[in-house]
Amino acid sequence: MNASASSAQGPRRYVIIGNGVAGNQAAELLRERDPDSRITILTNSRLLFYNRYLLPQLFKGHQSWHAFLANPPEYYVQRRIEVRRDCRVVSVDTRNKQVKLAHNEPIGYDALLVATGGRSHLPEDLADCRSLFHHFGTYEAAVTTRKALPDNGTVVMLGGDMIGLDLARTLLAVSCRVILVTHETTFWPHKLTAEERADALAALEKMGIELIDGDARGGVTSVEAGAPGLPARRVVFRQGGDLYGDVVMPFYGLTPLVEFMVGTGTDIERGLLVNTTLRTSDPSIYAAGDVCQIWSEQDHAYRFYYGYKNVRAMGAVAAINMTGGHEHFATTQEETLGRDGQGHIDSPFWACE
Ligand SMILES: Cc1cc2nc3c(=O)[nH]c(=O)nc-3n(C[C@H](O)[C@H](O)[C@H](O)COP(=O)(O)OP(=O)(O)OC[C@H]3O[C@@H](n4cnc5c(N)ncnc54)[C@H](O)[C@@H]3O)c2cc1C
Repeated sequence: MNASASSAQGPRRYVIIGNGVAGNQAAELLRERDPDSRITILTNSRLLFYNRYLLPQLFKGHQSWHAFLANPPEYYVQRRIEVRRDCRVVSVDTRNKQVKLAHNEPIGYDALLVATGGRSHLPEDLADCRSLFHHFGTYEAAVTTRKALPDNGTVVMLGGDMIGLDLARTLLAVSCRVILVTHETTFWPHKLTAEERADALAALEKMGIELIDGDARGGVTSVEAGAPGLPARRVVFRQGGDLYGDVVMPFYGLTPLVEFMVGTGTDIERGLLVNTTLRTSDPSIYAAGDVCQIWSEQDHAYRFYYGYKNVRAMGAVAAINMTGGHEHFATTQEETLGRDGQGHIDSPFWACE
């Protein structure tokens, strides 16, 4: 154990908000580096940590959430990591070092890690149609979407970030029709030149995805319930025209989940701002994963680093520094968009072990 991790008042209390890749990696290292500490993971999910990368398999008929669990329940018992499920954090009292849950329970911490990830972003002008979209960010959302999709059904994807494109591959493999309404967020988080984008769009068509140029139609103005006898959803374009599908899914990139940090005085831009040690502007609070923007000397800006390897590395760096170490985050993940042997889109963003 690192000496600075102990507390005169008793075991040091580490609280982690978020039960994803970043939070779990951090918990594992915290336990290794501070064996006597108290480690609590808080999550609003009803499930233990599961592998979201495998969720497309739901569309291939794999249904039980047990198959998606990353660690068996014993893993947490053996490491004395308390996982409190169905607990939504609504605020943080930085002065008294307490996290507040939705049912008003306060939980004290000595060091806090925010690892709440992000939700799929919805452009403001589509907010009124929120209830008509189908989602894919959680096991429950993916199950609901699968149930709404008939065999050989049609999925309309708006945006087309890499999470959506990953799902598209599976949907095509199970003989669904995939219509992609392109947008500036197509291929997000990759940033492509016009030439690279044209080339990548051609590769999507080769994969079997039907493309509609959303910008050429003025963008999507609304999503409506389909009329009787027609597919369940209608997508309406601003400059006229529409298209139908069984489900419509937004893939416009991610919005970090930081609402409960607003008002704490901690620096926030879109995500929680951290230095390269992953410490926020509050010395007791760290952040890791999709929720944080890390200072980049090279870009002279705070930026996001997505992908399994980056997120896992962030969890590790945060844990090391929360236990008195001094490690800096450096991205290890190649960020270019590639092609597989068949010329189909292949992204290192999809690569996880
Ligand atoms: C379907 C899908 C497939 C993906 N496939 C890939 C892939 O193949 N390769 C890849 O590199 N990346 C992939 N990604 C992206 C990848 O999932 C993320 O980069 C990664 O999961 C981020 O991890 P995280 O720990 O930061 O957050 P998350 O995994 O999003 O975990 C956030 C946790 O915080 C909890 N939480 C949020 N708000 C609160 C709150 N207020 N109170 C309590 N708990 C809260 C959530 O319940 C969740 O447990 C995929 C994402 C999805 C959704």
